[in-house]
Amino acid sequence: MTIADQHHLKVVEDAAQGVMSTYKGRSLGSIGDLGAYSFHETKNVISGEGGALLVNNEDMTQRAEIVREKGTDRSRFFRGEVDKYTWQEPGSSFLPGELTAAFLWAQLEEAETITARRMVCWDLYHELLAPLEKMGVLRRPLIPEHCQHNAHMYYILLSPEVNRQKLLDNLKQHQIFPVFHYVPLHSSPAGQHYGRTHGTLKVTVGHAERLLRLPLWIGLNANQQESIVDAIVRAIPASRSSS
Ligand SMILES: *Cc1c(COP(=O)(O)O)cnc(C)c1O
Repeated sequence: MTIADQHHLKVVEDAAQGVMSTYKGRSLGSIGDLGAYSFHETKNVISGEGGALLVNNEDMTQRAEIVREKGTDRSRFFRGEVDKYTWQEPGSSFLPGELTAAFLWAQLEEAETITARRMVCWDLYHELLAPLEKMGVLRRPLIPEHCQHNAHMYYILLSPEVNRQKLLDNLKQHQIFPVFHYVPLHSSPAGQHYGRTHGTLKVTVGHAERLLRLPLWIGLNANQQESIVDAIVRAIPASRSSS
């Protein structure tokens, strides 16, 4: 935000996964001029498809209302601020229907419970995986002091000697399906077309190749988590790059 201020830029904060998280005491999504939350079914608090735009810069409120109201100033008309409403600029109909909104309302009411339950799973993985970190085969997530996370995901960063594909194949045989994320944007076709990079970004590429996300959802129980970690422990020796 300091850099943006210096260069008179506006910031859109992608806080898609950040509901119920804070940075230095501030809720994610409340930091940029605009913030975006996702309520997609893969997130912590969901409505199937859906999301929210947080308008943190008051100068942008009216424009946001127009964009949402199909490009018209209908919101101002409803407040009695204009005597008729007309088309102002591009927009669309970004509103959720009642059923989606009702579903989301129930999820938001339970947001603290959902987060707390996910946190229990997160903390248990963190405890169970500590010995593997000590052995040097993986690194666990680091959470800086000034950040409060929401247990959206638990990932491990495999050490370079562990072959991720071999590990994945081995875990699949035990019906455990971790996933990896994300393909670095700069290496994607659109990233190459629209983006610009400075240097080789070899740290990004290296981390992306070593990252593994473990299953995490509110219904996961401690026995299942212990089996997952046991399976990882047993699979690691056979997943060494040299073997
Ligand atoms: C999920 C996600 C999105 C997309 O959210 P949708 O609700 O599917 O549009 C964007 N950015 C990040 C970082 C995400 O995790």
